[in-house]
Amino acid sequence: MANQLKGFTSRTLREEFPHLRRRLPTLWSRSYFVSSVGTVSTATVEKYMETQWERPVQERRVVKVNRGYVRRLTLTPEQAAALDTQGHAARALWNLLHAWWTWGGKGRRPGLKQADEAIRQARVDIPWLADLPAQAAQQVLKTYVRAWRNCWEGRACAPEFKGRLRSRMSVDVPQGRDLAVTRLSRHVGQVRLPKVGVVRFRWSGSIPGVGREPGRTTGARLVKDVLGWHIVFRTEVETGTPAPHHGPAVGIDRGVNVALALSDGADHTHGSWLRPKEAERLLRLERKAARQRRARKPSERTSNRLHRTYDQIAGVRARAKRRRHDWQHQTTTAIAEKYGIVVVEHLRVKNMTRSAKGTVAAPGSNVRQKAGLNRVMLNEAHARTIDLLTYKLAERGGQLRKVPAAYTSQTCSGCGHRDPRSRNGVTFTCTSCGHAGHADTNAAQNILHAAGLGRVRTWSPAPVGRETSTTRRAT
Ligand SMILES: [Zn+2]
Repeated sequence: MANQLKGFTSRTLREEFPHLRRRLPTLWSRSYFVSSVGTVSTATVEKYMETQWERPVQERRVVKVNRGYVRRLTLTPEQAAALDTQGHAARALWNLLHAWWTWGGKGRRPGLKQADEAIRQARVDIPWLADLPAQAAQQVLKTYVRAWRNCWEGRACAPEFKGRLRSRMSVDVPQGRDLAVTRLSRHVGQVRLPKVGVVRFRWSGSIPGVGREPGRTTGARLVKDVLGWHIVFRTEVETGTPAPHHGPAVGIDRGVNVALALSDGADHTHGSWLRPKEAERLLRLERKAARQRRARKPSERTSNRLHRTYDQIAGVRARAKRRRHDWQHQTTTAIAEKYGIVVVEHLRVKNMTRSAKGTVAAPGSNVRQKAGLNRVMLNEAHARTIDLLTYKLAERGGQLRKVPAAYTSQTCSGCGHRDPRSRNGVTFTCTSCGHAGHADTNAAQNILHAAGLGRVRTWSPAPVGRETSTTRRAT
């Protein structure tokens, strides 16, 4: 009978054996059962089938996976202008809210309900504010309140006014069911946007809830960057808990010399994000911008030429950023495929708040400013790596562990001896036991050990002149 079962879906099973219908709990309702039957031996299946009735009925745990999908909009000039208007209105609303909220000082902050009423009134009083759809306006308030909460809980700086040129334009579409996303052809999709109409976007991959894809779109956000307007679909997919990933455990250090060093000796490196010609162009543009800035008198507005140079600089930088993100995605996918447990350094949020002078923890003087900013950027890249690994591992049944990683670069992964002199550039040579290796690999091994994984340390050197080392005591 077990042989017969192989390759059947649970629906056929139920039809064929009506008495099962009553007994089959939801856990077995989908492909889960059949896929597990397909790979194990007949004997095991028989044994399992005998015992499964004794097990308590388990609810199949449903996990909701939320993810954003970015697609580039292809707009007509009128549509782009309409979105620009909405973006500016959203920004203006933010600024109005901010002015109003901070006006009375700490003791006189308006409540949410008052703010909501004020927005409704403002949309009546100020005509161009009504260009922004009502729901998008509500979302500005929500985002603003969240910005304060992030500030109070130490994740971000206090919200500020959004400058016309310095801020990124964005408009929210909170409800997914109005979007009516459809695919038109191989490379074109379309979506309906409030007060803009039906717009097209580049179909660069499937989106949950569209066509036959499972899941649903819960909303979207329109964001403008150097390349123009994009749409970020918020999606939700319900999946079952994946089978545990039995791959090896690995520690990862964000190396100074290589981008990511793994405790098993592998590393993931990348070259410069810009080709030599592109880097040259960026430098030339930056010099040009500096020259144009110098030519401007203090009272003058930023010239159109300077704006154009700024745009060109932003274009080159955005290209570098896209390549960086692409590399991060590929690398983290490869890691999540291979390893079952990944241990990374736990980043303290406090150190990561970006400020003009470096980090909050190390507020640099002018001399240290550059180094501080570099460290912040390194932290940001690492935080993104962790974010990507978190969900990619969870999808595959793997797990991510975070450990505090103080002194991992100075400590010997062989004997645990800590000495800053052990580290010399890219090489690590223990001053106590002579263990030698790549400095970043050594640090990654320490990170793995900090989670109680990998080679467990059984021997630790006794201080000179004392007889009671741990090994002696054991014998
Ligand atoms: Zn050592």
